[in-house]
Amino acid sequence: MTTLLPTSTAGSLPKPSWLAEPEKLWSPWKLEGEELVAGKQDALRLAVEDQRQAGITIVGDGEQTRQHFVTTFIEHLSGVDFEKRETVRIRNRYDASVPTVVGAVSRPNSVFVEDAKFLRAQTDQPIKWTLPGPMTMIDTLYDAHYRSRERLAWEFAQILNQEARELEAAGVDIIQFDEPAFNVFFDEANDWGIATLEKATEGLKCETAVHICYGYGIKANTDWKKTLGAEWRQYEETFPNLQKSKIDIISLECHHSHVPMDLIELIRGKKVMVGAIDVASDTVETAEEVADTLRRALQFVDADKLYPSTNCGMAPLSRHVARGKLYALGAGAAIVRKELSA
Ligand SMILES: [Zn+2]
Repeated sequence: MTTLLPTSTAGSLPKPSWLAEPEKLWSPWKLEGEELVAGKQDALRLAVEDQRQAGITIVGDGEQTRQHFVTTFIEHLSGVDFEKRETVRIRNRYDASVPTVVGAVSRPNSVFVEDAKFLRAQTDQPIKWTLPGPMTMIDTLYDAHYRSRERLAWEFAQILNQEARELEAAGVDIIQFDEPAFNVFFDEANDWGIATLEKATEGLKCETAVHICYGYGIKANTDWKKTLGAEWRQYEETFPNLQKSKIDIISLECHHSHVPMDLIELIRGKKVMVGAIDVASDTVETAEEVADTLRRALQFVDADKLYPSTNCGMAPLSRHVARGKLYALGAGAAIVRKELSA
């Protein structure tokens, strides 16, 4: 990256109210057929424009073409029956009715490649594309076929790798895998979760990232966060192995969370996407607050490896708030960039 402190979001941005009901996850589309295809592309264009105006360096699609960061990918796979539902506990946190794995899983067609090509055509800036990680995928399904979380994760890793290679060919500069499950299932993450993630990145020449967070600002997550105590040390469990992994960039949450900043030291040598925007609050950060978080992070990550970002996706926020936070991120990074080059 030629720009110092390249900014990006963790992934999602709110959708326009004419496309889907705002401030809601899994919000149903308001359009259908060709109108929906055109509507998603128009929304993607607006997301790119918002990022451009805010001075964001690494541009994403704001996840405008998908309903949910995990489910939409799985909907395109075969071997999963969305009619056959079972109630399971998601990330040990809340019960949800989920689809069932009924046979061997495979990816008959590319999922996001056309959307990524469309994003590529909208900007000359570097682009980032997000995919769910294998461990987070298995955690949103009932498995009646493999009956092994690990085996299913390896299958998904292969499928993700096929998709990732096509995204790279479409001109994506950074492919990010979302693995909030790494913050919950430490033993599995260390035993095979990180290995399956590396499998998903096999053979890629573009940069790879893993996003590990404490989730969107939805009630199930904020309730869970209240049980975690004053200091959140979950990253401590997986960072030593992630530091040794082939993943280039680690995306984590910092601002307003109870994560001790010095845990970043555990991934020294990696590029770090530091969450400097709280996505669980409607209060828009000032540029100076963002700059302060980045300055504190600089104690533990070299300046050329610091990538200012958001704690998580901003899909559930209002567009007005999300846009304000994008501007704060861009302006806060600009302050510190100036200090570093002085
Ligand atoms: Zn997240």
